[in-house]
Amino acid sequence: TAQLNAAWARRFIDLATDVVTTKRVDLSELDRAIGDGDHGENLARGFAAANRAVQESEADTVGGVLKLVATTLMSTVGGAAGPLYGTAFLRAAKVSNVEAIDAVGVHTLLDAALEGIVARGKANAGDKTMVDAWTPAVEAAGEASAAGESPAATLRAAADAAARGAEATEPLVALKGRASYLGERSVGHRDPGAESSALLLDAAARAAAE
Ligand code: ADP
Ligand code: MG
Ligand code: MG
Repeated sequence: TAQLNAAWARRFIDLATDVVTTKRVDLSELDRAIGDGDHGENLARGFAAANRAVQESEADTVGGVLKLVATTLMSTVGGAAGPLYGTAFLRAAKVSNVEAIDAVGVHTLLDAALEGIVARGKANAGDKTMVDAWTPAVEAAGEASAAGESPAATLRAAADAAARGAEATEPLVALKGRASYLGERSVGHRDPGAESSALLLDAAARAAAE
């Protein structure tokens, strides 16, 4: 039941940068089907810059690391995803400006991130956006933490729920963002932001399991 600290946050951003870089083409391909094809490039560029900023800083709380990521993503990632992820990381940072985070703290952090995304983008669950990955993730984290699971197991439950949530966007009609311009033609495609959200949460869970 090891608590999560700044070293975890640093490792999370390292693994997150790796995965969005590796999956850059896949993510942009998802975005090419229902958007403008830049989601992978946007995130690969943003996380590379964020990871550099983290490595160059001496941030020694989870919140300190996440805040640096937030400000870097906001200034380097354009489009919809930059402000959305930036706000998510900023809200998460505000509730994690402590040295160690337990499982309940993990749920609080993820819930704050989702609130930030919703405050910024005004999407509801089922609108075929990243909210459809984050909503089940937060719910799963709430259940795992209430059941007494470790922070790592709580993040794993959240990441797995996010992956299922991302997959479940495929039959949906997009109601927010660029994909909504396609209307019914967005059906049959996975939302790129939901997919990247699941990948980021998986990186967070893997970092916690190390
Ligand atoms: P852009 O659409 O500006 O090119 P990206 O391609 O980087 O930006 O990101 C697209 C993703 O952003 C979508 O797949 C979706 O998950 C997310 N998104 C777009 N609009 C919203 C919104 N209003 N609320 C939540 N998520 C959104
Ligand atoms: Mg795009
Ligand atoms: Mg774009």
